Amino acid sequence: MYLYKIKPIMIAFWFRRDLRIEDNAALYHALKTGQEVMPVFIFDSYILDKLPRNDGRVQFIHNVIADLSEKLAEMGSHLQAFYGNPVTIWQQIAAKMPITALYTNHDYEPYPQQRDAEIAGFLAEKNITFHTYKDHVIFEKAEILSNEGKPYTVFTPYSRKWKASLNDAHLESYPTEKYFSHFAPKNASFASIPSLAEMGFEQTNMPFPSLIPDEKIIRKYHETRDFPAQKGTTRLGLHLRFGTISIRKLAKIALSQNETYLNELIWRDFYAQVLWNFPHVVGNAFKKEYDKIEWENDKEMFQKWSEGKTGYPLVDAGMRELNSTGYMHNRVRMLVASFLCKHLLIDWRWGEAYFAEKLLDFELASNNGGWQWAAGSGCDAAPYFRIFSPEAQVEKFDKQFQYVRKWVPEYGTPAYTRPIVEHKWARERCLATYKKALKMD
Ligand SMILES: Cc1cc2nc3c(=O)[nH]c(=O)nc-3n(C[C@H](O)[C@H](O)[C@H](O)COP(=O)(O)OP(=O)(O)OC[C@H]3O[C@@H](n4cnc5c(N)ncnc54)[C@H](O)[C@@H]3O)c2cc1C
Repeated sequence: MYLYKIKPIMIAFWFRRDLRIEDNAALYHALKTGQEVMPVFIFDSYILDKLPRNDGRVQFIHNVIADLSEKLAEMGSHLQAFYGNPVTIWQQIAAKMPITALYTNHDYEPYPQQRDAEIAGFLAEKNITFHTYKDHVIFEKAEILSNEGKPYTVFTPYSRKWKASLNDAHLESYPTEKYFSHFAPKNASFASIPSLAEMGFEQTNMPFPSLIPDEKIIRKYHETRDFPAQKGTTRLGLHLRFGTISIRKLAKIALSQNETYLNELIWRDFYAQVLWNFPHVVGNAFKKEYDKIEWENDKEMFQKWSEGKTGYPLVDAGMRELNSTGYMHNRVRMLVASFLCKHLLIDWRWGEAYFAEKLLDFELASNNGGWQWAAGSGCDAAPYFRIFSPEAQVEKFDKQFQYVRKWVPEYGTPAYTRPIVEHKWARERCLATYKKALKMD
């Protein structure tokens, strides 16, 4: 007599920018169905193939996926991990595995939206349902609108409405742990984690910031956040970007400890909704008239800026910190971005692309928002005539030159380069160029 094993009904859960099993919205809903849940991760070749071979973020994701895989193995399950085009991979999974549904969390960027629509389309043809949830932000899409029903383009009224709309339920954790026994058992496995080398990447020794929120920093954040020489910000950007920490958990701490810190998390939601409601910001100025600016786009100047050789020590320190660690302090991001657009008259999109390649915490919405803020072209941006003086910025935020000396050791010696542009001259040139484009005369 033969015993035929009946394949159980199974649903799939797809990890993307939510790389944790705790407090994960879509994972919770998947596990709660009571069906077996097959966890999946895909190293998306469309995204990865464009990255430098020593990209620290790929190393980070690889480490995290290995940890997740271990955790799932301890529970008797198995993380199915792939490298390739997600559309093709879901076609293969749907052909091989008896899945009836796919659960995942929202992604607000243009490419993932188009990819998800394609996947949802072919799954529907196979009667496989596609379920998506909000997880990456506290409020998404059109959840926070003005009284006229319009998306906000100015931060302060947005943040007021955000705070007024918040209740305990928004910050409640999804208790996934109650249902961990619903992860599909290992016998359903058919893919394991590709190595970095198999995907064409090198190992990097880049140190990654800790995942544990430092509550001491959060409590004093309003006093310390502006000084790049201090450990005065949380460095959690990378973990928020890839969802190794839950935004609900962090916002809960922020709410009880420090309003200035909470406001920064609200900026993150703000820019995410700007991207969703005004997708033209990708590649275009939010305020269209700013696309008329006649940029100089001098390649040699851009090179000097990117290498931290402008002769302005705070700008140079920031760029060198970025190049060697994948991180730059927010104050300095604002200055180097303003310097590129306004002092050098180089298109903000060049700087945006450079940051996108280098920042470990790169997030399309916040990076685009930050660059358009600096260029003056974005939502609630710095006015065009506000041109930071790099010297005044050092005086304010690195008075003792501690940060500068850490990253630019030759500063103050004859070996240090002379300024590549003169501040007053560059300021006048910028004002004239912007005025011409914006027809301000
Ligand atoms: C030109 C420019 C580019 C930027 N690019 C990015 C980017 O690609 N990714 C990114 O996460 N942030 C970006 N920022 C915002 C900010 O600089 C970083 O979030 C912050 O420096 C990260 O360090 P931290 O984790 O120590 O932040 P903390 O000061 O500890 O803040 C906590 C978290 O709040 C969020 N946050 C803080 N400030 C902002 C802000 N102004 N806008 C949106 N979110 C914010 C981040 O998620 C951050 O991790 C950019 C800012 C500028 C001016």
